[in-house]
Amino acid sequence: MSKFDKSLVWFRRDLRTIDHAALHHALMQSRQVFCAFIFDKNILGQLPRKDRRVEFILACVAELDTALRELGGGLIVRHAAASDEIPRLAAQLGVDAVFANHDYEPAAIARDAEVAYKLKESGRVWLSFKDQVILEKSEVLTRSGKPFSVFTPYKNAWLKRVHSDEDLFLASYPVEPHSARLAPAPASVSEPMPSLTDLGFEQTGLSRLDLPTGMSGAQVLFKDFCGRMSNYRRVRDFPAIKGPSYLSVHLRFGTISIRGLAREAFNALRSPDSDGAAAWLSELIWRDFYFMILHHHPHVVAGAFKPEYDAVQWESGTYAMQLFKAWCEGRTGYPLVDAALRQLNQTGYMHNRLRMVAASFLIKDLGIDWRWGERYFAERLNDFDLAANNGGWQWAASSGCDAQPYFRIFNPVAQSEKFDPDGKFIRRYLPQLGKVPTKYIHAPWLMPAGEARKSGLGADYPLPLVQHEEARKRTLERYAVVRSNR
Ligand code: FAD
Repeated sequence: MSKFDKSLVWFRRDLRTIDHAALHHALMQSRQVFCAFIFDKNILGQLPRKDRRVEFILACVAELDTALRELGGGLIVRHAAASDEIPRLAAQLGVDAVFANHDYEPAAIARDAEVAYKLKESGRVWLSFKDQVILEKSEVLTRSGKPFSVFTPYKNAWLKRVHSDEDLFLASYPVEPHSARLAPAPASVSEPMPSLTDLGFEQTGLSRLDLPTGMSGAQVLFKDFCGRMSNYRRVRDFPAIKGPSYLSVHLRFGTISIRGLAREAFNALRSPDSDGAAAWLSELIWRDFYFMILHHHPHVVAGAFKPEYDAVQWESGTYAMQLFKAWCEGRTGYPLVDAALRQLNQTGYMHNRLRMVAASFLIKDLGIDWRWGERYFAERLNDFDLAANNGGWQWAASSGCDAQPYFRIFNPVAQSEKFDPDGKFIRRYLPQLGKVPTKYIHAPWLMPAGEARKSGLGADYPLPLVQHEEARKRTLERYAVVRSNR
């Protein structure tokens, strides 16, 4: 006997049918299970009309619908305010319960609370499950029962906890064996899959990018990465090399299971050549770490994790706007920083090393409030994730938990020489520097006039906005307020 006669699974950041906690639990507890996805007007309304992520999600939702149909079900797709639509749909379908996976962002938590309240008012049950992370909320705490704020001890405790019961923490939540309980989308509530235009958006040329969509796309990327995982530690910092997995956008929208990725990394740890897997697993643990930080310290959404850093005075007015605009457009005169921003603007992706370099440059060379950069990344990154993005920006601003100290200031030229030694990445995104000799590619302003003419370097590449050494001094002064406030 099932606990519920009919249930609804609400898909959000989990656009897959493989290893899915909420779908699995719904199938185990219900006689009949409907599935829905809402293009949420409250979220879409805040986005620019050209947004790669909407195109990406649309492709993922279409694949999810096909996969559910192949299992005997189907996806009910609506374009509405989710907080109204889910309770309405639950009533139309006459379900007893709505199943979903936990979301950890403050706005999503508020939305889910509203949905849960409305469901309860109509006698329905709201059930939500851990799915997006391996360990959540307070599942790993310090010996004194507090949340960790330093990564390495968190990671050690995380590994100990997961190793203690891998079957529990990494087990898959199968769907297919229970799929007979999936119900097709009833004609009475079905609407055709909306097009991008129906949703009010324009094409972004996503198909021209090397970014496969949906569960199938995630599997392609993951298989490719498994063959490279052992090299990960050695090559991950070099943006011109295919080093990382490029799975972040798939983790963001849940087209692949984090448990599946962690299982693979754990298996690789048992091989003799496990160094790359250990480094990659560490990155997956950073992801859990920042979700945990957001859960325990939601104030990071608006301000510094360490509040004394809110006293730092950033550049302001027209001058700050000009600097910020130049940074956004990749016109700072520092080639690696500019190539990084152009990669972001052209593809929606930025290599991790470059995120650190670009963020550090904006904050500690240009003196711009890290929240401006955080917002720009949030607009542009395909993989934008509040917890990881905020964590990354606060790390660069030295205001976060376990951030780099404020006096550690990346030298953008030294970073360029170290991580793009031949200027291959720079030339890919700044074709106007294509003929600049490698000797000058990291600091083209040092090129003698004759050589500059020969390499065709002209007005189409700017002089540096600031001199790094001077900017460094200004930053140390700017941050002095933190020391005196302690
Ligand atoms: P891989 O190197 O293959 O790593 C595997 C996975 O681990 C990633 O997909 C990601 O889910 C996770 N991961 C890796 N590094 C980190 C990290 N430092 N923090 C948290 N999770 C990590 N990552 C996002 O997913 N969304 C963001 O909005 C985001 N913004 C960032 C902003 C700044 C300023 C910085 C410094 C980092 C940011 N990161 C963000 C983390 C990291 O840069 C990306 O996760 C990574 O570059 C994605 O590429 P990948 O999938 O090839 O990563």
